[in-house]
Order: sequence, then C-alpha cells, then structure tokens
Amino acid sequence: MSFFDTSLEFLKGVGPQRAALLQKELKLFTFGDLIQHYPFRYEDRTRFYRISEVNELMPFVQMKGKITDVELIGDKFKRRLVAYLSDDTGEIELVWFQGINWVMQKVKPNVDYVVFGKPSRYGSKLSIAHPEIELLTEKSEKGGYLQPVYPLSEKLRNRYIDNKFIIKLQQDVIKGAISHIRETLPAAILQQQAFIGKKEALINIHFPKSLEWLERAQRRLKFEELFFIQLRLIKMKLVREEKFKGIVFGDTSILTRFYKEHLPFDLTEAQKKVVREIYSDMKSGKQMNRLLQGDVGSGKTIVGFISILLAIGGDAQAALMAPTEILAQQHYANLKKYADKMNISIALLTGSVKKSARKPIHEHLADGSLKILIGTHALLEEEVKFKKLGLAIIDEQHRFGVAQRSKLWQKNADFYPHVLVMTATPIPRTLAMTLYGDLEISVIDELPKGRKPIKTTHQFDSHRMQVNGFIKTQIEAGRQVYVVYPLIEESEKLDLKHLMDGYESISRAFPEMPISILHGQMKPEAKDFEMARFAKGETKIMVATTVIEVGVDVPNASVMIVESAQRFGLSQLHQLRGRVGRGAEQSFCILMTDHKLSSESKTRIETMVRTNNGFEIAETDLKLRGPGDLMGTQQSGALDLLIADLGKDGELLKIARGAAQTILADDPLLQRPDNRMILQQIESIKKSAVNWSRIS
Ligand code: ADP
Ligand code: MG
Repeated sequence: MSFFDTSLEFLKGVGPQRAALLQKELKLFTFGDLIQHYPFRYEDRTRFYRISEVNELMPFVQMKGKITDVELIGDKFKRRLVAYLSDDTGEIELVWFQGINWVMQKVKPNVDYVVFGKPSRYGSKLSIAHPEIELLTEKSEKGGYLQPVYPLSEKLRNRYIDNKFIIKLQQDVIKGAISHIRETLPAAILQQQAFIGKKEALINIHFPKSLEWLERAQRRLKFEELFFIQLRLIKMKLVREEKFKGIVFGDTSILTRFYKEHLPFDLTEAQKKVVREIYSDMKSGKQMNRLLQGDVGSGKTIVGFISILLAIGGDAQAALMAPTEILAQQHYANLKKYADKMNISIALLTGSVKKSARKPIHEHLADGSLKILIGTHALLEEEVKFKKLGLAIIDEQHRFGVAQRSKLWQKNADFYPHVLVMTATPIPRTLAMTLYGDLEISVIDELPKGRKPIKTTHQFDSHRMQVNGFIKTQIEAGRQVYVVYPLIEESEKLDLKHLMDGYESISRAFPEMPISILHGQMKPEAKDFEMARFAKGETKIMVATTVIEVGVDVPNASVMIVESAQRFGLSQLHQLRGRVGRGAEQSFCILMTDHKLSSESKTRIETMVRTNNGFEIAETDLKLRGPGDLMGTQQSGALDLLIADLGKDGELLKIARGAAQTILADDPLLQRPDNRMILQQIESIKKSAVNWSRIS
C-alpha cells in the first residue's frame, strides 16, 4: 500500500475518532486526501502592521506589541476580558467573551506578542475580538509567510479541529510525503509551460514561500487537474472511435421525400451545416457521439427529426430521451406533427404511462414496427427493448451524466446506436469541453430568418402603472402576455401566496380580461386545461410560476414579464425570455425588480438587457456563479474540481486540452517511456477515485 493510501487514523494526533469526523465532515479518508485538501484562501502574515496604521476596513492584520494591562469587565453574565496591546505608535484593545480563564492564564503583561485578527471599531476605539495571540519568537519575528486557511465545518470546530489543527496535520503529512511524491507530468510539458515540479507545488500550495510561489503552485496544480480530465475524455473518445462500429446510414430517400413534400420552412445555414455534420457521422461507419448546441428557438427539433429520418431510412429505430415529463411530452407533440405527415409510427413512454399501455409499446418496439420512441428515464428500463436502435437523441438540459448517456447506447447488444446529445441552453466553451469533452460539438449559431430580436427592459416595481398600461396596449393589438413569478423550493407556500397576490392584483388591474393561472401544485389535467385555453387565445394573460419555463410554445404571446427578476439566475431568465419571440410580431421582455439590488443581480439584469445571445449570457453566468451552481446540483459532481475553476481558468483549460490531444495523437496507448508517468497517474486516480468516478 502506498503512503498516500494510508488511513488518516494513523497520522500523528488523529486517531480513530478524529479520523471518523474528518471522513464524515470533509470526506477525507487517506493521507492523499488530506494533501489534496487545499486551502481556499491565505492570510497575509508577510508583514506586521503598526498599530497606528490599522483601521476597521482592513480584513485581517498582524501586529506585534506588548500587553500593557488586562481587565475583566461586566458582570457574571456579560463578562468580557480586555487586554491592551501597544507598540510605539498606539494602542488597540483585544477582547474575549469566551475562554476567558484560559486567556487570563496565557496572556501576561510586559511580554512581546504577535497578534492576528480582524479589526473593528466601537466608537473611537479600535478592537479585535478573539484574536490569535502568540509569544513573539525569533521565528515569528521574521514573519513573512502566507498562512493557509482550510475549509472546515462547524462540527469540526466544536471538536477542536480548527484551522491550526489542520495546519499541523498538513505539516506532518507533507513532511512524511516528501520522499513519496512522484512527478506526474512529463518533462516536456513541465518545460514548455515552465511549471514547477509536483513536490514543490504541493508544498507551496499549503505553505507558500511567497505570493509568487503560491501562484506557481496553483497554476501547476490547476493545469494538472484539467489535463488529466481532458486526457481521459479524449482517450474515451479515441477508444470509442476505434472500437465501436456505427451502423452505416447512407440512404437519404425518406429524408429527400420529407424535404420535398413536408419541410415547413427553409433550413437556416446553421441548421444545414449541422445536418451535414450529422449525416457525415452517420454514414461514416463509426459511432456518432455528437453534442448539438443552439440557443432557445434556434430550431434544434427539426434537426433532430432529420437525423431520425436518416436512421429510419436505414431501417432502424430512433429514441429521444428528455429529462422531464413535460419536456418529453412537448418533444412528442412536436415530432408527432412531422412523423404523422410521413406516416411514421411514434409513441411516448414516461413514468406515468400505464402498464396496459406499455405492453403494446414494448411489443412494437421489439418487432420493429414502432419507429420512434420519445420518453423520459423510463426508456432506460430493462423491458424497453428495440429491434434495432439506430439513433439515440438525448435532450439533456444538463441533467444526465456520461454514465446515464451510455446506458442508452448499450441498448443494442451487437452494435452501438449513434448518439446525438442536445442541450436546451448554450453552454460556455470551458464547460462544454469538460462535461462533453468526449463528444464532437455542433453549434446552431443563427436564428431562423424574420425573427425580430426581443426587446428587453428593466423596470422598477414603482413603475407598475406604466407596465400595466403597456400590457393593455399589447393585448388590444391582439397579443398575449406572460407574467412569471419566482419559485423557491424552500417555501412553496410562500411562492403560492406571491403568485396568488399577483394574480389578484392583475385581475384588479384588468377586470374584464380572461386570465389563466398555472403553478406546480395544480393537477396535470388542470394545468393542461389552462395551458390549452391560453394557447387557443381564450385567455390573454398567463400568470404562472416557472413551470412555463419549458414545454410551452404560444407564438402569439409577445410579452414576458418577470416578477422579482433579481431572484432568477441568468440562464433561467434567458430560458423564460425564450418563451416569447416565437411569432412574427415584435416581442418584449420586462424584468421587474425593487430598488434594492445586489451588484450581482445588477450584472444579471444588465446582461439580459444588453444581449439576446445565449452563449454570451452563459459565459457571464459561469463567471458570476461558478460551474456547480450553473449546472444544478445534480451534475455538479463532475465539476467538483479540487482546485481549477472553469469560470476563471479557461485559458489553462485550453492549454491542457491541447497538451492532452498532442500527447494522445502521438502515443494513443501512452506506451512511451516518457509518458509512463501519465499512465501511472491515471491508474492511481482511478483507484483513489477522486473525481474520476463521478465523471465516468
Ligand atoms: P429549439 O432549438 O429551442 O428547440 P425549436 O426547434 O423548438 O427550437 O424551434 C423553434 C421554432 O422555430 C419552432 O416553432 C420551429 O418550427 C421554428 N423553426 C425552426 N427552424 C426554422 C427555420 N429554419 N425557419 C423558420 N422557422 C423555424
Ligand atoms: Mg427544443
């Protein structure tokens, strides 16, 4: 067993109980885990401030001085201990509310101390509550270090596992590790990128010699993390290309008939380009694994249908899997329109389809008479057996992981179906490279002609009268309007109340107007009924929670009003806005907020007002929120990077992907001596399962 696999229990000062706590709270099991538990920030102990320089705006300061006096103030229940620290330039109070006895024993007058803490001001006096205080020694006198600060939990602190304790553990474990740390990057890369070695990087990430060394350590470790992820993804892709034959679909006769007789509009240039890419994959003899990205309304559905026709032309079947029931239904409704015209059988299979209705679906799939199956996760069930699945389309909306995707393409025993992954919203390049780094990427970067860009404005709640006036003129011109309220999971009741209040005030403002209401707590039939009324134009205003985010297409609706817009994420706002602008008329999106806006909310709203470009919006969103939040919790696992940050390290990611490509192009099996360390590292990462297992 290697040093790094040793259980933390055996580290000096840990023992079984603390090891169990570290496991539970921080997921740290082994020495290796601990070493990879990197600081999330560093406190600047590189200099001592003079007391006269200190003010309450400073985050943390380090000072040295003598304690001139110590006094206990207040009665039994509100006691505090105050010590007065002074140097040649002034005096500052150090205050303790807890652990008073212990401090009284430790802190002695007229001795030199090093003090570290966050200054604040009470009236005319500066003070530091619960500072760190230590005797001045020759070593601390020299100062000059950046102190690591580690992620911790409240529970750990309560059990005296605090930052100091972790620092001690890190010092010990690193001391022991030094002779075991192997270089993990090939010399060529180290040289090209002027990276420091692994050993130096690990030491300096915990105990940086200087800011400069810290940056070097971070750069090196971030690169390494990204490099191995990319290496693995590209390797997966190469293996698949090598091993998995795809069915050859070269017969375009059915497609040609569709083009001649039923294509409802001319394809955009972007759609044509993507169709060509898909066609060339599907006839190549290799299995297609392609990601199709395009903004809301860019026309991905028709591209999906065209791909399906290619499969059916080759006498195979096609499946489309969507993440939610509503989305599956919508896809079904859309594709059925085309399929019916072409006399192609199509069915919907979701969790709510009854057993009796499933049976014929299963049968017709197995005998090959059912050509297209649309559904949710239900498609992955054992009983769902195709005669010959030629194409699997997966509409991801960021919900499925690589593992789930691959389940669908294992539906055939002897060959793999072609796979087309569609995403409902554009994904920033860095994320796409990581989440879908094993796929080819197609982008529809153009909207169908004749669409008028949606006009977006920001209005404060105080302008509601004007907004209502605008709604009125739009409805008089024959349009329809959405009014959307936020939905927070913590309090469905409160949300419902906001929605109902909003509904009432709109009813009051438009007394004669037929108005629909839609929210998550309604029965499906009631929802469908309201949705249908609105779609037919019987109601003019739709008041709803975000349930309308997906699955609604009413071309006559031209106004989207988002209430409490500051509470929505950027991509969600963009999705909502995509509900309008589907018809020929000029559409509008109005973002309502009150006056209190955080700077992040301001950026979000300004971004929405400035641009309709989903890719630009996604990039901004990534920078604001970081990848985990952006993709929702369900898939953030794959993005749980130890040190790299996809929002900030885009450049490094490109370099890492490039380096991985170069190496694998040269030496696909990593058999060269100078690449042996890479292979070893892949093995050891697999074993310790740091973030690999979550990716694969
Ligand atoms: P999304 O990419 O968001 O899934 P859809 O496929 O739903 O977009 O297409 C949005 C709307 O645009 C649909 O009503 C569709 O019929 C229409 N559409 C798609 N492609 C074109 C095109 N080339 N010309 C005109 N309308 C199109
Ligand atoms: Mg769609």
